Amino acid sequence: MDKKQKIYNKLLDLVKKENVKVDEVLKDHLYTKLGGKADFFITPTSYKEIQNVVKLSNEDDIPFTLLGNGSNLIIKDGGIRGIVINLKHLDDISSDGNTIVAQSGARIIDTSRYALKKHLSGLEFACGIPGTVGGALYMNAGAYGGEIKDVLDYAYVVDKQGDLVKRLASDFELDYRTSNIPDNGDIVLEATFNLKPTSYNEIKAVMDDLTFKRESKQPLEYPSCGSVFKRPPGYFAGKLIQDSELQGTNIGGAEVSKKHAGFIVNKDNASTTDYISLIEHVQKTVKEKFGVDLEREVRIIGEDKE
Ligand SMILES: Cc1cc2nc3c(=O)[nH]c(=O)nc-3n(C[C@H](O)[C@H](O)[C@H](O)COP(=O)(O)OP(=O)(O)OC[C@H]3O[C@@H](n4cnc5c(N)ncnc54)[C@H](O)[C@@H]3O)c2cc1C
Repeated sequence: MDKKQKIYNKLLDLVKKENVKVDEVLKDHLYTKLGGKADFFITPTSYKEIQNVVKLSNEDDIPFTLLGNGSNLIIKDGGIRGIVINLKHLDDISSDGNTIVAQSGARIIDTSRYALKKHLSGLEFACGIPGTVGGALYMNAGAYGGEIKDVLDYAYVVDKQGDLVKRLASDFELDYRTSNIPDNGDIVLEATFNLKPTSYNEIKAVMDDLTFKRESKQPLEYPSCGSVFKRPPGYFAGKLIQDSELQGTNIGGAEVSKKHAGFIVNKDNASTTDYISLIEHVQKTVKEKFGVDLEREVRIIGEDKE
């Protein structure tokens, strides 16, 4: 029996058969519609299953990668070796008084809408961020002056050893679009948010205003990964790119958006290689013109195509 078949059999002992896929095409799971295949793609239905997969990964030295909604990830054309874990089946959202508990696979947009229904304020900023709760915590996602750090109370994670652990918000060292999750190797299972009772109409008015701003400024008609770069101290990435006259520049099917310079869109069947080459071209041009280093917000993972 070859190694891949052995891993598959072991996964079937831990996760239901219909939730274990082999050689899964990842671009269907990504906002950019780019990327190769995953050796294994699993969608666990319980925390225990996730713990067991982490333990298997440790014992048999099989790497694993978390994939949320794929809205801040570029996966290379050679795909991902090992196991990709997606928590789409763990998407429950509930409330208790002024707190909302959302499982990691729930969309942060749905969590924000749920908060509106419960007349709880604090998650309005997230009403247009297309990630999951897990991805939003990992990235400390934020918009229009709000971020996860402002509302997170605590979260349950599976740590590197496969143990279930409760972490307080301060344990994650949340900062501008970062957390210590990549260093600690935690898998976020669920997050508890502390919110403030407010009238439905007040919350709705803020959400409507932010939605209008987002829809009028962002090229939502094309696949993309949102803002590619972080805001450099003292500047705006979009303005630097605009002033470098890069809007409309393309490599293969990837293009610097004409609508929002901070976005790179997959306009016409781009490959990941096109997309990454364009990111590097933008970084180089802005550095030459303005002496500013643009740091990527979007994460690039996976292997090059052979
Ligand atoms: C059109 C558009 C608009 C956007 N607007 C915004 C915005 O306004 N503000 C903003 O902050 N971002 C924005 N983004 C980026 C993106 O939506 C956020 O970063 C989001 O939080 C990513 O969540 P995700 O579930 O898609 O994560 P993914 O892209 O799937 O993954 C991101 C990282 O999180 C890790 N991860 C995912 N789930 C877990 C988990 N359960 N446990 C541990 N690690 C995990 C992944 O391994 C990966 O490293 C936008 C993107 C798009 C496409």
